[in-house]
Amino acid sequence: MSDSTVKSTEEKSLNFIEQIIEEDLRAGKHDGRVLTRFPPEPNGYLHIGHAKSICLNFGVAQKYGGATNLRFDDTNPVTEDTEYVESIKNDVQWLGFQWANEFYASDYFDQLYEFALQLIQKGLAYVDDSTSEEMATLKGTPTEAGTNSPYRSRSIEENLDLFTRMKNGEFAEGSRTLRAKIDMASPNMLMRDPILYRIKFAHHHRTGDKWCIYPMYDFAHGQSDSIEKITHSVCTLEFVPHRELYDWCIENLAIFPSKQYEFSRLNLTYTVMSKRKLLKLVNEQHVNGWDDPRMPTLSGMRRRGYTPEAIREFCERAGVTKNSQLIDISLLEFCVRDHLNKIAQRRMVVFDPLKVVITNYPEGQTEMCQSENNPEDLEGSGTRTMPFSREIYVEQEDFMENPPKKYFRLAPGQMVRLKSAYIIRCDEAIKDADGQVVELHCSYIENSKSGNDTSGINVKGTLHWVSVAEAVAIEVRQYDRLFKVEDPSSEEGDFKDYLNPDSLTVVTAYAEPALANATLEDKFQFMRKGYFCLDSDSSTDKLVFNRTVGLKDTWQKEANK
Ligand code: ATP
Ligand code: MG
Repeated sequence: MSDSTVKSTEEKSLNFIEQIIEEDLRAGKHDGRVLTRFPPEPNGYLHIGHAKSICLNFGVAQKYGGATNLRFDDTNPVTEDTEYVESIKNDVQWLGFQWANEFYASDYFDQLYEFALQLIQKGLAYVDDSTSEEMATLKGTPTEAGTNSPYRSRSIEENLDLFTRMKNGEFAEGSRTLRAKIDMASPNMLMRDPILYRIKFAHHHRTGDKWCIYPMYDFAHGQSDSIEKITHSVCTLEFVPHRELYDWCIENLAIFPSKQYEFSRLNLTYTVMSKRKLLKLVNEQHVNGWDDPRMPTLSGMRRRGYTPEAIREFCERAGVTKNSQLIDISLLEFCVRDHLNKIAQRRMVVFDPLKVVITNYPEGQTEMCQSENNPEDLEGSGTRTMPFSREIYVEQEDFMENPPKKYFRLAPGQMVRLKSAYIIRCDEAIKDADGQVVELHCSYIENSKSGNDTSGINVKGTLHWVSVAEAVAIEVRQYDRLFKVEDPSSEEGDFKDYLNPDSLTVVTAYAEPALANATLEDKFQFMRKGYFCLDSDSSTDKLVFNRTVGLKDTWQKEANK
């Protein structure tokens, strides 16, 4: 292998952000320091798209011995709230990351105000009395240059005076703005004298009523990065046009040269990702809160039983690209299933019970059967006991009166193994007046108990079951796609028109008694059914379980029907 081949395979395994960092490290930039930040706006709960950004920002910092700040981008007092701050911190830690510092853009309001004064003093910012309509008219179009505002040539003294008075609350909301003096003919519309500050008499969740002027995103983000000496400021592609302004502010203020890099947003099929849309689903009660298990939020996924390991693996597999990404939700489900298979405790739960009477088993007798908690992890998870008695439940679908060939479950005269218990033979199907099978009479083979089977009988089918007397009735919430279409945001009309009306189905099922001790952290595989976890709606008299994901991808099959 030649040197160049070695290099190119190495580079291929790095994403483009890592390549940039490695080049910077080789060039000795920032003394080899890597500091990233994750900058959520506290106006909603984090979703799987944010997880992508978190994994990337924290991931590269970890990889190169650096650190990551958590910075709340709280420059818009109207939509932000402390409830969101707490949920965001909780979600980042749950995903498995710890920030070096917790900062708030609002911590920098004094400094940002000073920066604004500096720009005014340099003749690079002015107070504009135009209304927003006037400003829009003067802005021009992408193909036509804009026109200078009549207030653009105000003197530095006048600007300083007016801006101070804006800060002091002397002017009405919306009556004046502070704008950068850049270039009304710039091909980049954002460089046509962007607004830096606006007047807003709003209470801020941290600074209270101290301020009635608030900086715009473009006058807060880059400077906040710079104040923290962020080396690599990673954001999503819609910020590409903002980069020129980001650099302009930093250059003209002569502050630490943070640099912005952009990657594509992550989108997932059959859901929506914007916080604004998710907030609508919550407020209009299409879902039961931000942590509804159908939501693409991290709190929803956690409640549904997704693991941080699975989400991190998914983000890794989704990759870091510059092309827009609509990732199939089945990739996420694959990652969840793959991880749960390794860690989930096996339990038996019958969803659609058919009573079986073992006619040759003594009445009133109960014996215990040992069953493995997780055959994938024999050392760590051990076994549990399950009661076996004369009356048990099996699934309705595990019996057929006239079975086709190769049906290895129960049918008249046919034998199956009850998982971890005995082999039974179906002797008779008992029917009601309408001819419906309501009960099976079976007999068990005495010397066929699992672990101690000397019967020499080989059966092909193994069924899950529960003992009737000890069975625990549980509520099971089964979830389907939240939307009926792959990309609700790109459809015509209101995205809510595409909600899947059957995204939640509630059923009662019968569980083996060990499930009564489940905790919220436990992960279960209900054998032959899927992965489940206890829901926080559970009470002492009612256990509620969520179906996290099925055992196999059944969606594709449905779609092809
Ligand atoms: P939304 O549009 O959902 O409200 P946002 O971009 O306004 O998202 P922020 O709180 O500003 O949400 O995002 C914090 C960080 O997470 C930003 O750096 C943003 O670029 C990133 N981010 C948000 N959504 C995604 C996504 N779908 N994929 C990747 N990164 C994302
Ligand atoms: Mg945002």
